[in-house]
Amino acid sequence: MHERQLREQMIRFAHLCYERRLLVAMDGNLSCLLPSGDVLCTKAGCHKGFLTEDDLLVVDRSGRKLRGNGQPTSELLMHLACYDERPDIGAVVHAHPPISVAFTIANVSMARCVLPEVVLTLGVVPTVDYATTGTQTLADRIRPFVRQHDAILMDRHGAVCLGKDLLTAFCNLETMEHTALITKTARDLGGVKELPPAEAVKLRALGLKRYGGPPDAVARADAPTADLPSACTGCSGCANPDPSGVGPSANLRMARVVTQALHSLQDAVAAGPIASRPAAAPPARSGAAALPPASAIEDALVDEVLRAISAQGGPGH
Ligand SMILES: [Zn+2]
Repeated sequence: MHERQLREQMIRFAHLCYERRLLVAMDGNLSCLLPSGDVLCTKAGCHKGFLTEDDLLVVDRSGRKLRGNGQPTSELLMHLACYDERPDIGAVVHAHPPISVAFTIANVSMARCVLPEVVLTLGVVPTVDYATTGTQTLADRIRPFVRQHDAILMDRHGAVCLGKDLLTAFCNLETMEHTALITKTARDLGGVKELPPAEAVKLRALGLKRYGGPPDAVARADAPTADLPSACTGCSGCANPDPSGVGPSANLRMARVVTQALHSLQDAVAAGPIASRPAAAPPARSGAAALPPASAIEDALVDEVLRAISAQGGPGH
């Protein structure tokens, strides 16, 4: 594709990022490879919703400015790291999609297999540990993830999405944020059901073979869990030890167990040293003397948990 067409595309996708609320104000930056092998990128401090031809410049692969006004994006090191690690890509879009970023702040992993279409085309979205924006540290930190993924989240910051062209990189960004919205809505409604691990692996292997992906991931298409982390059961942050997911019924069951346990504790306290004190004694506010022994608390909790489990048909139900 000619440079003229690539410039027009970059302006179009920058505007779309803003219109789709994937970034605001001066956030984010885009880049793509030119036929010469140099990099066309957005300049620092420009509003992507109103991006014009004057906001684009050309740098070489070491980051040296070749053409254009102003300075290249402050996140150029990150873009260059992507091209270094992935000779198969031609574009990088960095934005601050709000729901996806909120997942990182809430420490809820998006490296989960929830939507079949997303597992098929994108796999899971990992989160890279926090590093200061625009630094070599951040660029270096994303390198191992770039080799394995086309969509990556950076803790407390934003997304890096790669593709063979700007359209593909933009689609990966949109898909990430759409997945975050659906997942958040499901969580608000009561819980998220993971895909069964066997189905997730089957879909992912099929997707890598049919649609491709990072070469390192494609090479693992026939591995026991394809390129998925422990078949989507080893994710961090979601605190979900059960691959079938924590649904509303499980949440409600846990709420009942905790409520029952609290009632038992109240009963135990009422029957303990406090109840036997003279009425004139001031109410105890805290301290071991006002509570039953720790073993009694533990026994009460264990009794309630066992009672709830047996009422539900046993562990794992
Ligand atoms: Zn950023």
